[in-house]
Amino acid sequence: MAFDIDMIKKVYSQYEERVTAARKMVNKPLTLSEKILYTHLWSGNATEAYERGKSYVDFAPDRVAMQDATAQMALLQFMQAGRAKAAVPSTVHCDHLIQAKEGADKDLARAKSESSEVFNFLSSVSNKYGIGFWKPGAGIIHQVVLENYAFPGGLMIGTDSHTVNAGGLGMVAIGVGGADACDVMAGLPWELKFPKLIGVKLTGKLSGWAAPKDVILKVAGILTVKGGTGAIVEYFGDGAESLSCTGKGTICNMGAEIGATTSTFGYDASMERYLRATDRADVADAANAIKGHLTADPEVYANPEEYFDQLIEINLSELEPSLNGPFTPDLYTPASRMREEAQKNGWPTKVEWGLIGSCTNSSYEDLARAASIARQAVDKGLVTKAEFGINPGSEQVRYTADRDGLLKTFEDLNATIFTNACGPCIGMWDRAGADKQEKNTIVHSFNRNFAKRADGNPNTYAFVTSPEMVAAIAISGDLGFNPVTDTLTNKNGEQVKLDPPTGDELPTKGFDVEDPGYQAPAADGSSVVVEVSPTSDRLQLLEPFAPWEGTDLKGLKVLIKAKGKCTTDHISMAGPWLKYRGHLDNISNNLLIGAVNYFNDKTDNVQNQLTGEYGAVPATQRAYKAAGIGSIVVGDENYGEGSSREHAAMEPRHLGVRAVLVKSFARIHETNLKKQGMLGLTFDNKDDYDKIQEQDNIDIIGLTEFAPNKPLTLVLHHADGSEERITVNHTYNAQQIEWFKAGGALNIIRANQAK
Ligand code: SF4
Repeated sequence: MAFDIDMIKKVYSQYEERVTAARKMVNKPLTLSEKILYTHLWSGNATEAYERGKSYVDFAPDRVAMQDATAQMALLQFMQAGRAKAAVPSTVHCDHLIQAKEGADKDLARAKSESSEVFNFLSSVSNKYGIGFWKPGAGIIHQVVLENYAFPGGLMIGTDSHTVNAGGLGMVAIGVGGADACDVMAGLPWELKFPKLIGVKLTGKLSGWAAPKDVILKVAGILTVKGGTGAIVEYFGDGAESLSCTGKGTICNMGAEIGATTSTFGYDASMERYLRATDRADVADAANAIKGHLTADPEVYANPEEYFDQLIEINLSELEPSLNGPFTPDLYTPASRMREEAQKNGWPTKVEWGLIGSCTNSSYEDLARAASIARQAVDKGLVTKAEFGINPGSEQVRYTADRDGLLKTFEDLNATIFTNACGPCIGMWDRAGADKQEKNTIVHSFNRNFAKRADGNPNTYAFVTSPEMVAAIAISGDLGFNPVTDTLTNKNGEQVKLDPPTGDELPTKGFDVEDPGYQAPAADGSSVVVEVSPTSDRLQLLEPFAPWEGTDLKGLKVLIKAKGKCTTDHISMAGPWLKYRGHLDNISNNLLIGAVNYFNDKTDNVQNQLTGEYGAVPATQRAYKAAGIGSIVVGDENYGEGSSREHAAMEPRHLGVRAVLVKSFARIHETNLKKQGMLGLTFDNKDDYDKIQEQDNIDIIGLTEFAPNKPLTLVLHHADGSEERITVNHTYNAQQIEWFKAGGALNIIRANQAK
């Protein structure tokens, strides 16, 4: 699968010099996270110490990973860069677009036919540009990355929030938007605010029913869904070393649920075992050679309170099996208290489904431990009360688990084996009866359990737990069942108890697979044709945006003055629009339809200044575009917060909006606007927001002398003939001003490629 050992060796060869330079600048011992970040500076050796939580720093990631839903726009943009190949090793993984319904074979065949044009596009564009392509059915992005590409001490970005899973193999791996992935593949630096650091010291050892999942469920209970925001969580201690590599992956994976930038563990024997078991002995050897650099300096772990911004300590020996939920992944309840909590809160205790899988918990060890419970149920004459579904994490895991009889054990309990894909975890689950919206409970080993996530039913109470607990609870059919203390009645009316789970960390006979589902890219992709039908409604090749015309912008109409919160969801809604993520013109029909119009308090209802009539925002903007008239979007505080979705910046650009003027921006969205060649401006005096009137014509003055730190002037021509001038600020640096002038960052990259 062509992991790049030469690239890894090159990264490792720089460690000594770069860590030494960083230690000198920071002037104290370094955490592992700092070592990884400072060795991946775009500029080479550190020349300053960055302020955690404040400094914006350019990094050079080693890899890019993309899943099929987000890869579409990332790659459409990348095609605009004019490069022959991706600048860093990159992969695409088809895992999000496969619905779980009848079982793997039928479900996969249906998905391949329904989304064939998307899969064909991703396959051909990967083939052309030197990108590894993992076909539908090959597995879930993060499991496949852990098995094939993650390496200790590496820096990776991925267009999915659970990219952080690779921290289980000692990486700093971070979820980003498609625009960031595009930049890195195009050879540009990647900017990140230098994170704060949270240390989690693990002592003791898991035993009985407690699993790695219980570590992160506990951490989520402590830190809550926002507690990790802007921070890397670094796990260490004897307890950390006692966990398997995939168990560490589970813990890092759900770091996304506490909002952490990412999570990671220092290189240890479990990682070496995993690397060797997954056919990467050369990576293990290379890592061993610089082992000291792949964990924090000893002083850090000796006195962690001096080096981390926050410190948490967890004794694994005291951890109980637990469940988090419903509706939020940070509501922590140990199994021993679940019956009481469920009664108190009115949570339905009859469990209808137990689902094992997702990138969080779909490793060989996960399936082995859950299967040990399933086997006991068969042997002890128990019948499963709930339905059971399994999504193996990869074809390699599935094939090996099948060879070793684990899947047969689940099937003996009437489990449905779904495709090696996300399935129910991303709501791709055709669950019979979900449309009736009845109150019900499910347990799963996934990471997220927000309302409607798995089956679209707002009344499904979903609880997150370990795979072995999913198995035990599905067998009992009772949310309050605590396998540590409770017994179950078998077919003969006898009381039986389930023994604690057992399972091999790695298959004793080694991993095996016939067809992993990987397509290597063409050595020379220049003759490969990228397949996009001009009549497709899901995919559309991008046209470069037009460069700035070289004059001030005059007579801009106010498309909308958004009132209050305006997130990327308000600007570019998700849900049914997801299927148009690869078709800019079609998805632009959701432009700002969630934003509230300040002038009438309605959503998706603005006045068309050409006709005086009220209508939908996208249609109104299309009318301005057709008339060759520019427009401006006005917004409130923290405009564009939420996701890093680049569509929220591309759509207004595509439809002819010329500027976005707000009280303040969410930073990622502001950067995305700049990348697309759009003007992102802020009121110098926030009260000037009140001066913008519905029928204003607005001029933006000063663009011919557009320069860093130099405000621009807006002239507001009101409908009554009066005129006001206001000052607006911007944060464009010299390079970003060039992006604006060229019509977007990609236009510059392409021009440079052509030279
Ligand atoms: Fe995201 Fe779930 Fe797929 Fe993981 S399994 S990548 S959390 S949708």
